[in-house]
Amino acid sequence: MIVVLEPNTSKEELQHIARWIEDKYSVKIHLSRGENLTILGLVGNTSNVDAEQLEANEKIKTVINVAEPFKKANRLFHPDSSEIQVGDRTIGGEKLAIIAGPCSVESEEQIVDVAKSVQKSGAGFLRGGAFKPRTSPYAFQGLKYEGLELLKEAKKITGLPIVTELMSERDLDVFVEDVDVIQIGTRNMQNFELLKELGKIDKPILLKRGMSATVEEFLMSAEYIMAGGNEKVILCERGIRTFETYTRNTLDLSIIPAIKKLSHLPIVIDPSHATGKWWMVESLSKAAIAAGADGLIIEVHNNPEEALCDGQQSLKPTGFDDLMIELKKIAKIVERDI
Ligand code: PEP
Ligand code: MN
Repeated sequence: MIVVLEPNTSKEELQHIARWIEDKYSVKIHLSRGENLTILGLVGNTSNVDAEQLEANEKIKTVINVAEPFKKANRLFHPDSSEIQVGDRTIGGEKLAIIAGPCSVESEEQIVDVAKSVQKSGAGFLRGGAFKPRTSPYAFQGLKYEGLELLKEAKKITGLPIVTELMSERDLDVFVEDVDVIQIGTRNMQNFELLKELGKIDKPILLKRGMSATVEEFLMSAEYIMAGGNEKVILCERGIRTFETYTRNTLDLSIIPAIKKLSHLPIVIDPSHATGKWWMVESLSKAAIAAGADGLIIEVHNNPEEALCDGQQSLKPTGFDDLMIELKKIAKIVERDI
């Protein structure tokens, strides 16, 4: 349920109304002050809230029932698009977030080389898995803590903020310390206990869509993190499971306008995992930006043929450089910066 206040409501009146509603109905208030509207989002059990009684207050313009189960992630609660601050960069604003790097960190030379080249091409963030969620327990599982150290080394040299996947609550403190954006992979999108822990920290979360998750389930996972108090959530579409086997997954670009309508959270697209084919990355990256995505996360490897993970979907640094040139043209048309 949301309560829209009259534009002339003072700060004191707003606080008074918010406290009154919280006490009377035992709900929490999520406040959103836009340019023209002040909105109180009521979170919790709102079944006993009397909308007509609220509307009797002359400072309350209108009361709207929110049909969707996600509240804090709902655009109704927060009409302006969210911009998530990551150090001196933002995700969700005019500037597109281009996150690039290898699937996994393999060596100092590899991560530093790739970091330098993607930075030179214009990427704003470095990706690289230290803890890898592999289908087979016998496959390379990542360099783990050593991988985090190497990412830090690459950051020191290039200044690129680190985006890397957290798989276990056990490593949360280390990630809070070392990582700029914590990635939650498709396999953990509904690991609700982990999501609750992420709600308690003050760190941007890149939440990847579960491989069989509906848009609503995806937003409910974001809601888990936000309900705990951490509203810095960046959504990531990385392809979903369909009957099609030609591509690794099926990229659901329709999620971009869907998210823009339903939520204020930024959304980035991962064309690498969505297709599993390096040669599809360029066209789908362009399509994603044209469709209004806030950024891309792209796998880039300096020697894809020898990659320990996902070489078949990784661009070479030269391919990434060419892609960035093309993306600049699309970005200009949709009035975004890159
Ligand atoms: C990754 O980004 O390397 C990854 C494992 O992604 P996903 O969780 O989307 O499969
Ligand atoms: Mn990968």
